[in-house]
Amino acid sequence: MVVFCFLVDQTKQVRGSKPAAGICSRCGGGASVADMKTATRFCYVPLYWKSSKAIICTFCGAVLKSYS
Ligand SMILES: [Zn+2]
Repeated sequence: MVVFCFLVDQTKQVRGSKPAAGICSRCGGGASVADMKTATRFCYVPLYWKSSKAIICTFCGAVLKSYS
């Protein structure tokens, strides 16, 4: 059986975070600086990873600001 797979997706992983100044514009929750790791996968096989930093809301998870 041949399975065709053209699925490309991205998974985001937060590797660590620490509190940051500022509040979320959506819910008013506290913001934190997070070390993000984004993996681009093809057929569930990770092709490459990209590390970035972002300020996210600890309550609703909204990305308030991202650095690349
Ligand atoms: Zn929020």
